[in-house]
Formats: sequence, C-alpha cells, structure tokens
Amino acid sequence: MFSELLDTISWEDTTRAIYAKTDADVRIALAKERLNVDDFMALISPAATPYLEVMARLSRKYTLERFGKTISLYIPLYLTNSCANGCIYCGFQSGNPVKRVILTEEEMVNEYKAIRKLGPFENLLLVTGENPAKAGVSYIARALDLAKPYFSNLQIEVMPLKMEEYKELTEHGLNGVVCFQETYNRTRYTTYHPRGMKSNFEWRVNGFDRMGQAGVHKIGLGALIGLEDWRTDVTMLAHHLRYLQKTYWKTKYSVNFPRMRPSENGGFQPNVVMTDKELAQLTFAMRIFDRDVDISYSTRECQEMRDNMATLGVTSMSAESKTEPGGYYSYPQALEQFHVSDERTARQVEIDLRKLGREPVWKDWDQSFDIHRPYGT
Ligand code: SF4
Repeated sequence: MFSELLDTISWEDTTRAIYAKTDADVRIALAKERLNVDDFMALISPAATPYLEVMARLSRKYTLERFGKTISLYIPLYLTNSCANGCIYCGFQSGNPVKRVILTEEEMVNEYKAIRKLGPFENLLLVTGENPAKAGVSYIARALDLAKPYFSNLQIEVMPLKMEEYKELTEHGLNGVVCFQETYNRTRYTTYHPRGMKSNFEWRVNGFDRMGQAGVHKIGLGALIGLEDWRTDVTMLAHHLRYLQKTYWKTKYSVNFPRMRPSENGGFQPNVVMTDKELAQLTFAMRIFDRDVDISYSTRECQEMRDNMATLGVTSMSAESKTEPGGYYSYPQALEQFHVSDERTARQVEIDLRKLGREPVWKDWDQSFDIHRPYGT
C-alpha cells in the first residue's frame, strides 16, 4: 500500500531538497529522457523559473507526440451535496446549515438529458458528497445504470470505497475514479479534515491501491492547492503516481491540481497561493516528468489560463460545469461547492479550442488512442 512508501518519505526533508535545487539540477533534469521524482522536484523548484520557456517547448512537444492536438472534454454532475465530513474549506461540510439535495432517479435522468443538450458529451463525471448512509454504493450503481444510455464513459468522484465496491461498480459501467488526496501532509491532514471518514488519512491515501486492485480502467489523482506547500504536495503526488504506475501498470492515470476557489462556508482562505506562472511551471514539469499522464484542468481555472495551457500540456478539460447538485436542470439555484471561473458554454469552449488549433473530443481520448504499456517500457 502506498501509505507504507509514504511513511519513508519525510515531508520536511523533501521541502528542503526542493528549495535547495540548483540551476545545474534543472539542466540535468531537462536533458534526461526518463525523469525520476528528484528531477521533477528540480523542475518545480524556484531554480527552474528562468527555464519556463524551455519547459513550455518541451511540454508542448511531448504532448503533441503522445496526444496529438486532442483535448478531451468532460462534464461533472453533482448528484448530492449531502456530506458527513467536515472539510474546513468546503461549502458542503456537514456543519454548514444549507439545504441538502440527493437527486432522485427521475432527477438524475433529467440532468443527463439536459447535459446532452449542452453538447455531445460522452465523458460524465458523477460527483457526490461523502454520505454513504444516504447515497452509498447502491445509489451510485443506480446512477451509473441510468447514465449508460446517455454517456459512453462514466467516471465517479465519491468517497473512497472498498476494493469489492469498486469492482461492483465496474459491473455497472464504471470506467474511472477520481479522488483527491487534498494534502499528503499526514500531520496537518486532520486539521483540514477533522471528522467523518475523510479524517482517516490512510483509508483515503490507500484508496488508490484499492482502485488498482479492483481493475478500475482509469484513476485520477490530485492535490488541492491552497492547503500546504504546493511544491511538496505535488512531489508526494509524483511519488504516488510512479508507485501506482509500477504496481497497477494496466491502469491509465490522470492528474489534476485544483487551486482552491472561494466556497460558501464563511470563507476559508487558502494558506498558500499558487500564481498562474507557478501553475504553468507545474503543468510543464508534470508533462516532462510523465509523457503519458492525462493532465486535466477544470473550470476552476479561468478562460485565459485554460486556453493558454490547451496548447502546452493539458489534455482534458471540463466545460460548462455546475458545481451544485442538479445544477443543469433540477436545482440551478442551489448551493455551489465552489464558484467556477470559466463560465463559457461547452460549445464556446469547443469553438475557442478549434481557433487555437486544438481538436476537442467529446469522448475519452483513451478510447481512440489507447496504448496499454507498463511504465518503463
Ligand atoms: S470536500 Fe467533499 S468530503 Fe469534504 S465536506 Fe466537501 S463534499 Fe464533503
């Protein structure tokens, strides 16, 4: 399990090592064909900032070689905002006195139909708060069953499950699972996640192993930027990615680095701020580190940032997202989990991507360009 490996990696030593990286370390990393996590640390370090243009060119080249000009479009659907957890940065936390919604089967179908009217989306990400008592595995299975006639690629972002539960959901059409560790800083983790299942660091961080063991086709992982030093968090994420690729080599992987946006819970302020330039540096570094991983940007990022990065490393994007349950048809005025920044319609995103010379694809590029190969071959 990854937690055992993580136990051997010191947060403090890693932070020190990142900030001690030199110009020479960056040059060595940029000259390599196959980078290790130490090289990745050099590329995200302050020492790499003079090399942003070089990194952008390399990132663009590797992305074109592996993905062509395609950008895969997906759309999230929040099924519930009911949550038993108390993440202090989230408007859906259980202590927040807001109206809770759990979509009925009829409402789900209405949402699916409404989404199909926005564009020919085939990639649907079903999102729930974490409340297994009210919206557990059988609820998610039913949502998948009902979604199948409308979408060919179904992913979920829900509470971490048991291995058998992931297996069960694959029988209901599940293709992928997205989960955010939020932060890999074990000591600080419970400060942000004080109650509920999510306060169990090990259960969450080892959830990715359970997905791999269950044979989930695609696993998405990410760290929430705004909690702890982002450079250290994404280094742990890089360790995690490498570990998963070596252990579950048939699985495809995606990464996402959401920057915290204001939520409606009284305004948790991010502890750290990542600038646009730093997000670009991280995106280039991740692409140079791993040429195969899908790098995903959500509508948390603004149009300008998403357009710029669409030609430089990003390979999938959400579009026209609503972050409230039933936001496309049933409850368009309910509580948002966070404000989106890019508010363009899906069709406008498509038009703008084409103007940039990209080829938006509504189904998962995996299905068109699937290459299963173990890491390191
Ligand atoms: S981040 Fe997720 S688990 Fe945490 S309170 Fe919000 S919805 Fe619940």
